[in-house]
Amino acid sequence: MATCRQCKEPTSILLKGIFTGLCPRCRARVIPVNLGCGTLIVIALIVFVFSRGNEDVELEISRLGSVVQELKRAVDSQTIEIQNLHSKIDKLTASPENIADKSEH
Ligand SMILES: [Zn+2]
Repeated sequence: MATCRQCKEPTSILLKGIFTGLCPRCRARVIPVNLGCGTLIVIALIVFVFSRGNEDVELEISRLGSVVQELKRAVDSQTIEIQNLHSKIDKLTASPENIADKSEH
């Protein structure tokens, strides 16, 4: 029986992370939600760098800069979207009678 590296709880070898050696519960705790965005950026940069041939380094850096700007814009728009969702949730939780009204119909 495999055990989790973190909590030492017995866990199935199938459920245990192959790379992390952690059970699903510990993995969920260790990996922050933001990692999704960061990982995407890193992957995009790696793919970008390796898809280029032996071009001028300066040109490559300026291209990388524009890619980073693009990614920043994408992240910013997501942040705004998350903020909008947060404010909607806040409105709903601030007035529970709204939920009660809707559930009547
Ligand atoms: Zn664990």
